[in-house]
Parts: sequence; structure tokens; C-alpha cells
Amino acid sequence: MMELVQVTKVYEQGRRTVQAVRGVSLRIGTGEFVSIMGPSGSGKSTLLHLLGGLDVPTTGQAIFQGDDLQAMSDRQRTMIRRHRIGFVFQFFNLLPTLTAIENVALPLLLAGEKRRVAHERARASIDRIGMLRRADHLPDELSGGEMQRIAIARALVTDPEAILCDEPTGNLDSANSKAILELLRTLPEPGKRSVVMVTHDPNSAHYADRLITIRDGLLDSDISTNRVPAKA
Ligand code: ADP
Ligand code: ADP
Repeated sequence: MMELVQVTKVYEQGRRTVQAVRGVSLRIGTGEFVSIMGPSGSGKSTLLHLLGGLDVPTTGQAIFQGDDLQAMSDRQRTMIRRHRIGFVFQFFNLLPTLTAIENVALPLLLAGEKRRVAHERARASIDRIGMLRRADHLPDELSGGEMQRIAIARALVTDPEAILCDEPTGNLDSANSKAILELLRTLPEPGKRSVVMVTHDPNSAHYADRLITIRDGLLDSDISTNRVPAKA
């Protein structure tokens, strides 16, 4: 479970201070697929960074699977990000000089895994998202949708407890967006893995089982969509 307890986040912008998050409490259960929606500048990315230990609260607590992220050393937080969380970004963040499979293997190599094992697991992760035919291609030989699939394979390769997505469809056309959202929907596992996605796009947000909206750094609404299986 991931939890924010009365979290605020203040940034200094020159002589100005910006209250990006103004007192948010939130629990995300293991196995949930949650979207966080709000307009640009409402604090979505900041919330995601706090949940994933990329940033620490100014006040309040961010807790990952029972551990207070702020109470840890930078090194401990880095270990949690590397081993237990997968990140997916709007612009994919693939390294241009590495092939798809090398990009996917990278988190395991950084975590100290042997090269042969890392490549075997990278191949399995790419297979899971149906991209084996592109495994040996460079990012600039792939379409946007294919690059985001490879980025998802990279996020999955460590078998993480959480996958955190920042505008994952923000750079994709509607057909590719739909495919990526359908793929994200398959990733949560009860008792094992949750998926959190921030987006400004209502159509994307509605793929999740739970929709949280934020406005000016405050929670605005939190609803379970109780999705009914589509009838044929
Ligand atoms: P969103 O993801 O909803 O667009 P952000 O979380 O990126 O919102 O930003 C919320 C507010 O915090 C904005 O006013 C933004 O300018 C500010 N902000 C975000 N990150 C930083 C930073 N690293 N330094 C200074 N201000 C920041
Ligand atoms: P934005 O939300 O402004 O589009 P990104 O989502 O690309 O920016 O990245 C947000 C921040 O997270 C950046 O400061 C980036 O350096 C950092 N970051 C990205 N991936 C990781 C990671 N795996 N571990 C630690 N920090 C990361």
C-alpha cells in the first residue's frame, strides 16, 4: 500500500514560493488501478513523485508498503525506486543509443543483476507486452506507441510493487493511447502490484478503477468507477 498523510509540498521559485500540494491524505491499496486527474499545474506530477520517493514532502508523510520514505536515506529511497517501483513517462525516456531490449535490461543491470540474467528477464518482459519483434530495434526505429510499450516493459522488468505513470498517453494519438491504456489496465495484480497514472485527459483517466481529481494542490473528488464488464 502507498499512503500520503497530510502531505504538503512547497517549492521555491526564485523569491516566490509555490504550494504545489496543500494537505493531501490518500491511500492506494495493492492491486488498485488509480488515475489522478487535474488541470496543468494542479500538482499531479508532484503527487506522483511523492508517492514514488522521487521527491519528499515539505510536511507530512509519504509511506511505501509501510515504510516512511522521508525517514530513509537517499540511498534507501533510491533502492526502493530501483527495485520496487516502475516509472512510465510521457516522453518515454528511452536511451537512444541502446536497443529496445538493452533499454529494458538496464534497470536490472543498475540493480546489479548479471548481464545474461538481465537479458533473459528483459526478453520475457518484452514478450509479455507483445513486442519481441522489435527487441533489437533502436528507439528511433519505433513508433511512439511502440516506444511506450518498451518503456512499460522496462517498468515491469524488476517485477515492481507499483507502476507510476506520468501522462503516459500525452504524446500518443488516440488509437495508440487506447492500446497503452488497455495494456496498463492488465498490470495491477491483487495483493501484488498497483498502478497509478496521472493525466489531464478525462478519457484516459476513466480507464482506471478509481478516479481521483485534484485542483490547486487539494483533493477534489475520489470515486470508484466500479467498472461493469462490457457486454458483447
Ligand atoms: P501538474 O503535474 O498537475 O502539471 P506539477 O506537480 O508539475 O503539476 O506542478 C504543481 C506546481 O508546482 C506548479 O505551480 C509548478 O510550477 C510547481 N513546481 C513543480 N515542480 C517544481 C519544481 N521542481 N520547482 C519549482 N516549482 C515546481
Ligand atoms: P516531467 O514530469 O516534468 O515531464 P519527468 O517525468 O521526465 O519530468 O521526470 C520527473 C523527474 O523524475 C525528473 O527530475 C527526472 O530526473 C526524475 N526521474 C525520472 N526517472 C527517474 C528514476 N528512475 N529514478 C529517479 N529519478 C527519476
